[in-house]
Amino acid sequence: MKIEKILIANRGEIALRIHRAAHEMGIKTVAVHSTADADAMHVRLADEAICIGPPAANLSYLNIPAIISAAEISQADAIHPGYGFLSENAQFAEIVESHDIKWIGPKPEHIHTMGDKVAAKISAGELGLPLVPGSDGAIEDIEEAKKIANEVGYPVIIKAASGGGGRGMKVVQNEEELESQMQQAGSEAKAAFGDATVYLEKYLGNPRHIEFQVFGDGEGNAIHLGERDCSLQRRHQKVLEEAPSPILSTEERNRMGEICSKAMSDMGYRGAGTIEFLYENGEFYFIEMNTRLQVEHPVTEMITGIDLVREQIRIAAGKPLTFKQDEIQFKGHAIECRINAEDPETFMPSPGKVTWYHPPGGLYVRVDSGLYHGYKVPPNYDSMIAKLIVYGHTREGCLMRLRRALGEFVIEGMKTTIPLHLKLLDNPDVQNGDYTIKWLEEWLDGDHQS
Ligand code: ADP
Repeated sequence: MKIEKILIANRGEIALRIHRAAHEMGIKTVAVHSTADADAMHVRLADEAICIGPPAANLSYLNIPAIISAAEISQADAIHPGYGFLSENAQFAEIVESHDIKWIGPKPEHIHTMGDKVAAKISAGELGLPLVPGSDGAIEDIEEAKKIANEVGYPVIIKAASGGGGRGMKVVQNEEELESQMQQAGSEAKAAFGDATVYLEKYLGNPRHIEFQVFGDGEGNAIHLGERDCSLQRRHQKVLEEAPSPILSTEERNRMGEICSKAMSDMGYRGAGTIEFLYENGEFYFIEMNTRLQVEHPVTEMITGIDLVREQIRIAAGKPLTFKQDEIQFKGHAIECRINAEDPETFMPSPGKVTWYHPPGGLYVRVDSGLYHGYKVPPNYDSMIAKLIVYGHTREGCLMRLRRALGEFVIEGMKTTIPLHLKLLDNPDVQNGDYTIKWLEEWLDGDHQS
Protein backbone atom coordinates (compact mmCIF):
# COMPACT_ATOMS: atom_id res chain seq x y z
CA MET A 1 0.00 0.00 0.00
CA LYS A 2 3.02 2.27 0.11
CA ILE A 3 2.91 5.34 -2.12
CA GLU A 4 6.30 6.17 -3.63
CA LYS A 5 5.48 8.43 -6.53
CA ILE A 6 2.55 10.80 -6.96
CA LEU A 7 1.42 12.29 -10.23
CA ILE A 8 -0.05 15.73 -9.59
CA ALA A 9 -2.87 16.33 -12.06
CA ASN A 10 -2.98 20.08 -11.61
CA ARG A 11 -0.98 23.29 -11.98
CA GLY A 12 -0.11 26.51 -10.15
CA GLU A 13 0.05 26.93 -6.41
CA ILE A 14 -1.91 23.78 -5.61
CA ALA A 15 0.47 21.60 -7.63
CA LEU A 16 3.32 23.08 -5.59
CA ARG A 17 1.39 22.58 -2.37
CA ILE A 18 0.97 18.87 -3.11
CA HIS A 19 4.60 18.54 -4.23
CA ARG A 20 5.77 20.00 -0.93
CA ALA A 21 3.71 17.62 1.19
CA ALA A 22 4.87 14.67 -0.91
CA HIS A 23 8.56 15.57 -0.64
CA GLU A 24 8.24 16.04 3.12
CA MET A 25 7.00 12.43 3.22
CA GLY A 26 9.87 11.20 1.05
CA ILE A 27 7.57 10.65 -1.93
CA LYS A 28 8.65 11.53 -5.48
CA THR A 29 6.46 13.71 -7.70
CA VAL A 30 5.53 13.83 -11.35
CA ALA A 31 4.27 17.13 -12.75
CA VAL A 32 2.03 17.24 -15.80
CA HIS A 33 1.74 20.43 -17.76
CA SER A 34 0.38 22.07 -20.89
CA THR A 35 2.71 23.73 -23.38
CA ALA A 36 1.74 27.08 -21.81
CA ASP A 37 3.14 25.90 -18.47
CA ALA A 38 6.51 24.51 -19.60
CA ASP A 39 8.33 27.08 -17.41
CA ALA A 40 5.98 26.87 -14.44
CA MET A 41 7.34 26.38 -10.95
CA HIS A 42 5.47 23.11 -10.41
CA VAL A 43 7.25 21.71 -13.46
CA ARG A 44 10.63 22.93 -12.25
CA LEU A 45 10.34 21.50 -8.76
CA ALA A 46 8.86 18.08 -9.52
CA ASP A 47 11.14 15.07 -9.90
CA GLU A 48 9.75 14.43 -13.37
CA ALA A 49 7.58 16.43 -15.74
CA ILE A 50 5.45 15.33 -18.67
CA CYS A 51 3.77 17.58 -21.22
CA ILE A 52 0.16 16.47 -21.70
CA GLY A 53 -1.12 18.86 -24.34
CA PRO A 54 -1.69 22.37 -25.64
CA PRO A 55 -2.75 25.36 -23.47
CA ALA A 56 -6.53 24.76 -23.64
CA ALA A 57 -7.47 22.96 -20.41
CA ASN A 58 -9.82 20.51 -22.14
CA LEU A 59 -6.86 19.27 -24.17
CA SER A 60 -4.38 19.14 -21.28
CA TYR A 61 -5.41 19.36 -17.60
CA LEU A 62 -8.79 17.79 -18.42
CA ASN A 63 -7.37 15.26 -20.88
CA ILE A 64 -7.96 11.95 -19.09
CA PRO A 65 -6.16 9.63 -21.57
CA ALA A 66 -3.08 11.91 -21.58
CA ILE A 67 -2.95 12.02 -17.79
CA ILE A 68 -3.40 8.27 -17.39
CA SER A 69 -0.66 7.68 -20.00
CA ALA A 70 1.64 10.07 -18.11
CA ALA A 71 1.01 8.10 -14.91
CA GLU A 72 1.78 4.82 -16.65
CA ILE A 73 4.93 6.10 -18.37
CA SER A 74 6.27 7.58 -15.12
CA GLN A 75 5.07 4.57 -13.10
CA ALA A 76 3.35 6.82 -10.60
CA ASP A 77 1.45 4.78 -8.04
CA ALA A 78 -1.01 7.53 -7.05
CA ILE A 79 -2.71 10.61 -8.53
CA HIS A 80 -3.61 13.75 -6.60
CA PRO A 81 -6.08 15.92 -8.52
CA GLY A 82 -5.81 19.15 -6.44
CA TYR A 83 -8.93 21.31 -6.77
CA GLY A 84 -10.81 22.30 -9.92
CA PHE A 85 -10.00 20.46 -13.18
CA LEU A 86 -10.69 16.71 -12.67
CA SER A 87 -10.87 16.75 -8.89
CA GLU A 88 -14.62 16.19 -8.71
CA ASN A 89 -14.93 13.98 -11.77
CA ALA A 90 -16.16 10.62 -10.46
CA GLN A 91 -15.48 8.95 -13.79
CA PHE A 92 -11.85 10.06 -13.70
CA ALA A 93 -11.51 8.71 -10.16
CA GLU A 94 -12.92 5.36 -11.36
CA ILE A 95 -10.57 5.25 -14.34
CA VAL A 96 -7.59 5.98 -12.09
CA GLU A 97 -8.56 3.16 -9.72
CA SER A 98 -9.24 0.76 -12.57
CA HIS A 99 -5.62 1.29 -13.70
CA ASP A 100 -4.46 0.18 -10.29
CA ILE A 101 -3.33 3.68 -9.43
CA LYS A 102 -4.33 5.06 -6.04
CA TRP A 103 -6.78 7.93 -6.17
CA ILE A 104 -5.95 10.53 -3.54
CA GLY A 105 -9.54 11.50 -3.02
CA PRO A 106 -12.96 10.25 -1.94
CA LYS A 107 -14.67 7.12 -3.21
CA PRO A 108 -16.02 7.70 -6.75
CA GLU A 109 -19.62 7.01 -5.68
CA HIS A 110 -19.44 9.80 -3.09
CA ILE A 111 -17.98 12.22 -5.63
CA HIS A 112 -20.85 11.28 -7.91
CA THR A 113 -23.59 11.77 -5.32
CA MET A 114 -22.28 15.09 -4.05
CA GLY A 115 -21.73 16.36 -7.60
CA ASP A 116 -25.45 16.16 -8.30
CA LYS A 117 -27.11 18.86 -6.25
CA VAL A 118 -30.46 17.10 -5.92
CA ALA A 119 -28.87 13.78 -4.93
CA ALA A 120 -26.51 15.65 -2.59
CA LYS A 121 -29.37 17.38 -0.84
CA ILE A 122 -31.31 14.15 -0.41
CA SER A 123 -28.23 12.40 0.89
CA ALA A 124 -27.37 15.29 3.24
CA GLY A 125 -30.91 15.19 4.63
CA GLU A 126 -30.67 11.44 5.24
CA LEU A 127 -27.35 11.98 6.99
CA GLY A 128 -28.92 14.46 9.39
CA LEU A 129 -27.48 17.69 8.00
CA PRO A 130 -29.84 20.68 8.29
CA LEU A 131 -31.25 21.68 4.88
CA VAL A 132 -32.62 24.85 3.34
CA PRO A 133 -36.42 24.31 3.32
CA GLY A 134 -37.66 23.55 -0.18
CA SER A 135 -38.51 20.76 -2.60
CA ASP A 136 -37.36 17.31 -1.51
CA GLY A 137 -35.85 16.70 -4.90
CA ALA A 138 -36.24 17.67 -8.53
CA ILE A 139 -39.36 19.65 -9.32
CA GLU A 140 -41.21 19.50 -12.63
CA ASP A 141 -44.74 20.54 -12.07
CA ILE A 142 -45.59 24.24 -11.64
CA GLU A 143 -48.45 23.48 -9.24
CA GLU A 144 -46.08 21.57 -7.00
CA ALA A 145 -43.58 24.44 -7.23
CA LYS A 146 -46.28 26.95 -6.22
CA LYS A 147 -47.31 24.81 -3.29
CA ILE A 148 -43.76 24.46 -1.96
CA ALA A 149 -42.97 28.14 -2.55
CA ASN A 150 -46.04 29.11 -0.54
CA GLU A 151 -45.06 26.76 2.24
CA VAL A 152 -41.49 28.05 2.57
CA GLY A 153 -42.41 31.66 1.72
CA TYR A 154 -41.04 34.04 -0.94
CA PRO A 155 -38.43 34.85 -2.10
CA VAL A 156 -37.38 31.41 -3.32
CA ILE A 157 -34.42 30.31 -5.42
CA ILE A 158 -34.58 27.89 -8.34
CA LYS A 159 -31.36 25.95 -8.82
CA ALA A 160 -30.07 23.68 -11.55
CA ALA A 161 -29.31 20.17 -10.27
CA SER A 162 -26.16 20.10 -12.40
CA GLY A 163 -25.19 23.72 -11.69
CA GLY A 164 -21.90 24.82 -10.22
CA GLY A 165 -19.61 27.76 -9.75
CA GLY A 166 -22.51 29.95 -8.70
CA ARG A 167 -24.28 29.50 -12.05
CA GLY A 168 -27.76 28.25 -12.86
CA MET A 169 -29.71 29.98 -10.09
CA LYS A 170 -32.76 32.25 -10.22
CA VAL A 171 -34.27 34.21 -7.36
CA VAL A 172 -38.05 34.48 -7.57
CA GLN A 173 -39.82 37.21 -5.61
CA ASN A 174 -43.46 36.21 -6.00
CA GLU A 175 -45.88 33.69 -7.45
CA GLU A 176 -46.46 35.71 -10.64
CA GLU A 177 -42.81 35.28 -11.62
CA LEU A 178 -42.57 31.65 -10.65
CA GLU A 179 -43.77 29.89 -13.80
CA SER A 180 -41.72 31.89 -16.29
CA GLN A 181 -38.60 31.81 -14.12
CA MET A 182 -38.91 28.08 -13.66
CA GLN A 183 -39.17 27.50 -17.41
CA GLN A 184 -36.24 29.82 -18.05
CA ALA A 185 -34.12 28.16 -15.37
CA GLY A 186 -34.86 24.76 -16.91
CA SER A 187 -33.95 25.76 -20.45
CA GLU A 188 -30.82 27.64 -19.31
CA ALA A 189 -29.72 24.65 -17.26
CA LYS A 190 -30.27 22.39 -20.26
CA ALA A 191 -28.15 24.67 -22.45
CA ALA A 192 -25.35 25.16 -19.90
CA PHE A 193 -25.17 21.76 -18.21
CA GLY A 194 -27.05 19.44 -20.56
CA ASP A 195 -29.59 18.73 -17.81
CA ALA A 196 -32.84 20.65 -17.34
CA THR A 197 -33.48 19.33 -13.81
CA VAL A 198 -34.20 22.10 -11.32
CA TYR A 199 -35.22 22.24 -7.68
CA LEU A 200 -36.52 24.96 -5.44
CA GLU A 201 -35.60 26.26 -2.02
CA LYS A 202 -36.13 29.21 0.25
CA TYR A 203 -33.92 32.16 -0.60
CA LEU A 204 -32.04 33.31 2.48
CA GLY A 205 -31.85 37.08 2.63
CA ASN A 206 -28.48 37.81 4.13
CA PRO A 207 -26.59 34.75 5.33
CA ARG A 208 -22.94 34.06 6.05
CA HIS A 209 -21.05 31.26 4.30
CA ILE A 210 -19.61 28.87 6.87
CA GLU A 211 -18.08 25.54 5.86
CA PHE A 212 -16.75 22.61 7.87
CA GLN A 213 -13.60 20.70 7.00
CA VAL A 214 -14.05 16.96 7.40
CA PHE A 215 -11.88 13.88 7.00
CA GLY A 216 -12.80 10.23 6.89
CA ASP A 217 -10.79 7.02 6.57
CA GLY A 218 -13.39 5.32 4.37
CA GLU A 219 -14.13 2.78 7.07
CA GLY A 220 -16.45 4.73 9.29
CA ASN A 221 -13.98 6.82 11.26
CA ALA A 222 -14.31 10.55 10.70
CA ILE A 223 -13.28 13.83 12.25
CA HIS A 224 -13.95 17.51 11.68
CA LEU A 225 -11.36 20.27 11.72
CA GLY A 226 -13.66 23.14 12.52
CA GLU A 227 -15.04 25.77 10.21
CA ARG A 228 -13.96 28.47 7.80
CA ASP A 229 -15.91 31.65 7.22
CA CYS A 230 -15.87 32.50 3.52
CA SER A 231 -18.57 35.14 3.45
CA LEU A 232 -16.50 37.77 1.64
CA GLN A 233 -17.40 36.85 -1.95
CA ARG A 234 -17.72 38.52 -5.29
CA ARG A 235 -19.97 36.79 -7.82
CA HIS A 236 -19.98 33.71 -5.57
CA GLN A 237 -16.18 33.60 -5.72
CA LYS A 238 -14.44 33.69 -2.37
CA VAL A 239 -12.04 36.60 -1.88
CA LEU A 240 -10.90 36.30 1.73
CA GLU A 241 -11.38 33.37 4.10
CA GLU A 242 -10.82 33.00 7.80
CA ALA A 243 -10.80 30.44 10.56
CA PRO A 244 -12.40 30.36 13.01
CA SER A 245 -15.54 32.24 11.99
CA PRO A 246 -15.66 35.52 13.94
CA ILE A 247 -19.25 34.85 14.98
CA LEU A 248 -19.39 31.18 15.96
CA SER A 249 -19.27 30.12 19.61
CA THR A 250 -17.30 27.09 20.76
CA GLU A 251 -20.58 25.31 21.54
CA GLU A 252 -21.96 25.95 18.04
CA ARG A 253 -18.68 24.81 16.45
CA ASN A 254 -18.62 21.61 18.45
CA ARG A 255 -22.30 20.88 17.85
CA MET A 256 -22.16 21.41 14.07
CA GLY A 257 -18.73 19.81 13.78
CA GLU A 258 -20.07 16.68 15.44
CA ILE A 259 -23.11 16.59 13.17
CA CYS A 260 -20.75 16.80 10.18
CA SER A 261 -18.29 14.18 11.36
CA LYS A 262 -21.10 11.79 12.28
CA ALA A 263 -22.56 12.24 8.78
CA MET A 264 -19.17 11.39 7.25
CA SER A 265 -18.75 8.43 9.51
CA ASP A 266 -22.22 7.06 8.60
CA MET A 267 -21.44 7.59 4.94
CA GLY A 268 -18.06 5.84 5.14
CA TYR A 269 -16.51 8.91 3.58
CA ARG A 270 -12.85 8.71 2.62
CA GLY A 271 -10.37 11.58 2.48
CA ALA A 272 -10.86 15.33 2.73
CA GLY A 273 -14.18 17.03 2.22
CA THR A 274 -15.90 20.31 2.92
CA ILE A 275 -19.53 20.68 3.90
CA GLU A 276 -20.77 24.13 2.98
CA PHE A 277 -23.57 25.88 4.83
CA LEU A 278 -25.34 29.17 4.75
CA TYR A 279 -25.76 30.51 8.28
CA GLU A 280 -28.51 32.93 9.22
CA ASN A 281 -30.14 33.82 12.56
CA GLY A 282 -28.23 31.12 14.38
CA GLU A 283 -29.24 28.33 11.96
CA PHE A 284 -27.13 26.32 9.51
CA TYR A 285 -28.46 25.33 6.09
CA PHE A 286 -26.57 22.80 3.94
CA ILE A 287 -25.84 24.04 0.41
CA GLU A 288 -23.30 21.59 -0.94
CA MET A 289 -20.42 19.29 -0.21
CA ASN A 290 -17.09 19.55 -2.01
CA THR A 291 -15.37 16.20 -2.29
CA ARG A 292 -11.83 17.55 -2.56
CA LEU A 293 -9.26 19.85 -1.02
CA GLN A 294 -10.35 23.50 -1.02
CA VAL A 295 -8.38 26.57 -2.06
CA GLU A 296 -8.81 27.92 1.48
CA HIS A 297 -7.59 24.79 3.30
CA PRO A 298 -4.46 26.57 4.68
CA VAL A 299 -6.41 28.61 7.23
CA THR A 300 -7.51 25.32 8.81
CA GLU A 301 -3.91 24.09 8.76
CA MET A 302 -2.78 27.24 10.53
CA ILE A 303 -5.22 26.95 13.45
CA THR A 304 -4.95 23.16 13.88
CA GLY A 305 -1.29 22.56 12.96
CA ILE A 306 -2.39 19.65 10.75
CA ASP A 307 -1.07 19.22 7.18
CA LEU A 308 -4.22 18.37 5.25
CA VAL A 309 -2.44 17.15 2.12
CA ARG A 310 -0.27 14.82 4.16
CA GLU A 311 -3.42 13.44 5.74
CA GLN A 312 -5.00 12.93 2.30
CA ILE A 313 -1.96 10.99 1.11
CA ARG A 314 -1.88 8.85 4.25
CA ILE A 315 -5.53 7.92 3.87
CA ALA A 316 -5.04 7.02 0.20
CA ALA A 317 -2.21 4.74 1.30
CA GLY A 318 -4.61 2.94 3.63
CA LYS A 319 -3.24 4.40 6.86
CA PRO A 320 -5.52 5.51 9.69
CA LEU A 321 -6.30 9.15 10.48
CA THR A 322 -3.38 10.63 12.44
CA PHE A 323 -5.62 12.46 14.89
CA LYS A 324 -8.62 11.60 16.99
CA GLN A 325 -11.23 14.28 17.47
CA ASP A 326 -10.22 15.01 21.04
CA GLU A 327 -6.61 15.56 19.97
CA ILE A 328 -7.54 18.38 17.64
CA GLN A 329 -7.20 21.84 19.10
CA PHE A 330 -8.12 25.12 17.53
CA LYS A 331 -5.64 27.81 18.37
CA GLY A 332 -5.50 31.44 17.31
CA HIS A 333 -6.79 32.92 14.09
CA ALA A 334 -5.84 32.64 10.40
CA ILE A 335 -6.86 34.63 7.34
CA GLU A 336 -6.20 33.93 3.66
CA CYS A 337 -6.25 36.55 0.90
CA ARG A 338 -6.63 35.28 -2.64
CA ILE A 339 -4.41 37.40 -4.85
CA ASN A 340 -5.51 37.49 -8.47
CA ALA A 341 -3.85 38.91 -11.56
CA GLU A 342 -6.73 41.32 -12.07
CA ASP A 343 -7.40 45.01 -12.02
CA PRO A 344 -8.41 45.66 -8.38
CA GLU A 345 -11.26 47.94 -9.49
CA THR A 346 -12.67 46.45 -12.67
CA PHE A 347 -11.59 42.83 -12.01
CA MET A 348 -10.44 42.54 -15.63
CA PRO A 349 -7.79 39.79 -15.92
CA SER A 350 -4.27 41.18 -16.16
CA PRO A 351 -1.87 38.34 -16.95
CA GLY A 352 1.72 39.31 -17.77
CA LYS A 353 5.37 38.81 -17.03
CA VAL A 354 6.59 39.18 -13.46
CA THR A 355 9.20 41.94 -13.60
CA TRP A 356 9.75 42.07 -9.86
CA TYR A 357 8.75 39.61 -7.16
CA HIS A 358 9.19 39.97 -3.45
CA PRO A 359 6.93 37.88 -1.22
CA PRO A 360 6.45 38.92 2.40
CA GLY A 361 8.07 36.99 5.22
CA GLY A 362 8.37 36.91 8.97
CA LEU A 363 6.66 35.00 11.73
CA TYR A 364 3.38 33.24 10.84
CA VAL A 365 3.33 34.45 7.23
CA ARG A 366 2.78 31.88 4.50
CA VAL A 367 2.72 32.46 0.76
CA ASP A 368 1.47 29.69 -1.52
CA SER A 369 2.29 30.71 -5.08
CA GLY A 370 4.00 29.52 -8.24
CA LEU A 371 5.28 33.00 -9.09
CA TYR A 372 8.95 33.86 -9.55
CA HIS A 373 10.92 36.73 -11.04
CA GLY A 374 10.67 36.54 -14.84
CA TYR A 375 7.71 34.11 -14.87
CA LYS A 376 5.06 34.78 -17.47
CA VAL A 377 1.52 34.24 -16.12
CA PRO A 378 -0.34 32.50 -18.96
CA PRO A 379 -3.74 33.95 -19.88
CA ASN A 380 -5.32 30.50 -20.25
CA TYR A 381 -6.21 29.66 -16.66
CA ASP A 382 -7.71 30.96 -13.45
CA SER A 383 -6.42 34.39 -12.46
CA MET A 384 -5.42 33.44 -8.90
CA ILE A 385 -1.62 33.79 -8.72
CA ALA A 386 -0.93 33.67 -4.99
CA LYS A 387 -2.47 33.03 -1.61
CA LEU A 388 -1.25 34.94 1.40
CA ILE A 389 -2.08 33.18 4.65
CA VAL A 390 -1.36 34.80 7.98
CA TYR A 391 -1.73 33.55 11.54
CA GLY A 392 -2.18 35.49 14.78
CA HIS A 393 -2.93 34.50 18.35
CA THR A 394 -5.98 36.77 18.14
CA ARG A 395 -8.05 37.95 15.18
CA GLU A 396 -6.89 41.48 15.82
CA GLY A 397 -3.23 40.44 15.78
CA CYS A 398 -3.86 38.45 12.62
CA LEU A 399 -5.36 41.49 10.88
CA MET A 400 -2.38 43.64 11.91
CA ARG A 401 0.07 41.07 10.59
CA LEU A 402 -1.93 40.63 7.39
CA ARG A 403 -1.82 44.36 6.72
CA ARG A 404 1.92 44.38 7.34
CA ALA A 405 2.48 41.38 5.03
CA LEU A 406 0.29 42.75 2.21
CA GLY A 407 2.27 45.98 2.44
CA GLU A 408 5.51 44.06 1.87
CA PHE A 409 4.21 42.01 -1.05
CA VAL A 410 5.69 43.21 -4.37
CA ILE A 411 4.41 41.75 -7.63
CA GLU A 412 5.29 43.93 -10.60
CA GLY A 413 4.49 43.47 -14.27
CA MET A 414 0.72 43.04 -13.86
CA LYS A 415 -2.18 44.40 -11.87
CA THR A 416 -3.12 42.42 -8.78
CA THR A 417 -5.85 42.50 -6.16
CA ILE A 418 -3.39 43.37 -3.34
CA PRO A 419 -4.68 47.00 -3.21
CA LEU A 420 -8.24 45.67 -2.87
CA HIS A 421 -7.25 43.56 0.15
CA LEU A 422 -5.46 46.50 1.77
CA LYS A 423 -8.55 48.63 1.33
CA LEU A 424 -10.79 45.91 2.70
CA LEU A 425 -8.68 45.66 5.85
CA ASP A 426 -9.23 49.35 6.52
CA ASN A 427 -12.97 48.84 6.69
CA PRO A 428 -14.53 48.71 10.17
CA ASP A 429 -17.03 45.99 9.16
CA VAL A 430 -14.18 43.73 8.04
CA GLN A 431 -12.21 44.59 11.15
CA ASN A 432 -15.21 43.62 13.26
CA GLY A 433 -16.01 40.49 11.27
CA ASP A 434 -19.40 42.02 10.61
CA TYR A 435 -20.24 40.87 7.09
CA THR A 436 -22.44 38.47 5.13
CA ILE A 437 -22.22 37.00 1.60
CA LYS A 438 -23.75 40.20 0.20
CA TRP A 439 -21.38 42.59 1.95
CA LEU A 440 -18.48 42.70 -0.51
CA GLU A 441 -20.57 43.40 -3.60
CA GLU A 442 -22.49 46.10 -1.76
CA TRP A 443 -19.20 47.63 -0.61
CA LEU A 444 -17.85 47.57 -4.16
CA ASP A 445 -21.03 49.43 -5.15
CA GLY A 446 -20.21 52.03 -2.51
CA ASP A 447 -22.91 50.98 -0.06
CA HIS A 448 -20.81 50.73 3.11
CA GLN A 449 -18.67 53.24 4.91
CA SER A 450 -14.99 53.84 3.99
P1 ADP B 1 -22.51 26.42 -6.66
O1 ADP B 1 -22.32 24.94 -6.69
O2 ADP B 1 -22.90 26.96 -8.00
O3 ADP B 1 -21.42 27.16 -5.99
P2 ADP B 1 -24.18 26.67 -4.26
O4 ADP B 1 -25.40 25.88 -4.02
O5 ADP B 1 -22.98 26.35 -3.46
O6 ADP B 1 -23.86 26.66 -5.82
O7 ADP B 1 -24.53 28.20 -4.06
C1 ADP B 1 -23.63 29.21 -4.41
C2 ADP B 1 -24.01 30.49 -3.74
O8 ADP B 1 -25.34 30.90 -4.09
C3 ADP B 1 -24.01 30.44 -2.22
O9 ADP B 1 -22.71 30.63 -1.68
C4 ADP B 1 -24.93 31.60 -1.89
O10 ADP B 1 -24.23 32.82 -2.06
C5 ADP B 1 -25.98 31.52 -2.98
N1 ADP B 1 -27.12 30.70 -2.55
C6 ADP B 1 -27.29 29.37 -2.80
N2 ADP B 1 -28.44 28.92 -2.26
C7 ADP B 1 -29.01 29.97 -1.64
C8 ADP B 1 -30.21 30.15 -0.86
N3 ADP B 1 -31.08 29.15 -0.64
N4 ADP B 1 -30.46 31.39 -0.38
C9 ADP B 1 -29.61 32.42 -0.60
N5 ADP B 1 -28.47 32.32 -1.32
C10 ADP B 1 -28.17 31.11 -1.83
